[in-house]
Amino acid sequence: MISEETKELVEKGVMLPLMEEFYTIQGEGFHKGTAAYFIRIGGCDVGCHWCDVKESWNADLHPPTPVGKIVENAVKYSDTVVVTGGEPLTWDMTVLTNSLKKKGCKIHIETSGAYDITGIWDWICLSPKKIKLPKPEIYPLAHELKVIIFNKHDFKFAEEQAAKVSDHCILYLQPEWSNREKMMPLIVDYVMKNPKWKVSLQTHKYLNIP
Ligand code: SF4
Repeated sequence: MISEETKELVEKGVMLPLMEEFYTIQGEGFHKGTAAYFIRIGGCDVGCHWCDVKESWNADLHPPTPVGKIVENAVKYSDTVVVTGGEPLTWDMTVLTNSLKKKGCKIHIETSGAYDITGIWDWICLSPKKIKLPKPEIYPLAHELKVIIFNKHDFKFAEEQAAKVSDHCILYLQPEWSNREKMMPLIVDYVMKNPKWKVSLQTHKYLNIP
C-alpha cells in the first residue's frame, strides 16, 4: 500500500515508479551500438496491442524509487542515460533530468509523445502511436522519429508523422518484432524508394541482450 506522502512525491517526480534499470548497448535508432544506462519507468496507458513491455503499464506494480537513488546507480555505469518505459512522460521528468545533468550525463528519452514534455533532453526519440497521438509541441523537438511498422498501413502513418517533425529529424522505420519477417521486405523496398527514411532494427534482440 503506497502512502499519500509517497504518491505526492511521485506526482512531483521526486520519486518515480522504477521498473528496471540496466547497463547495456542501445540497440535501436541513431545511437545503436552505444553503451548506455537504461532507466525503465513504469506506467503507460497508450495501449499498443503489440507492446513488448506490457508489464510496464501498471505503475502500481513498480516501486516508487527516490530519484537520487536512480541517479546514483546510473552514474556508476555510464554518462549516457536512456529514459524509457512504459511512457516516461506520464511523470514529471524535471527532477530526474536536472539531477542527471548536474552529474554531467547525456540524457536520452524514448517516448510516444502522448503527454506534455517535461525535463531537459539531449536526445529525443519520438515513437508516435496511432491510438494516442503525440502532443503537437514535441514534433519540432524530436531528434529522431521512429515509426513502428506492424502492417502496410503504417507507412501512411509514418509519412503523416514525418510531415510534422523538423527538417533535422532523422527518420526511422522499425519492424514490429513479432511481425518482422513479414514486414522487413516491405520496409526495405519502401526505404529504397524513399531514402529519406532509414531502417532501424532491434539489434539488442538479435544479440540477446536486454
Ligand atoms: S507506448 Fe510504448 S510502452 Fe506504451 S503501450 Fe505503446 S509500446 Fe508499450
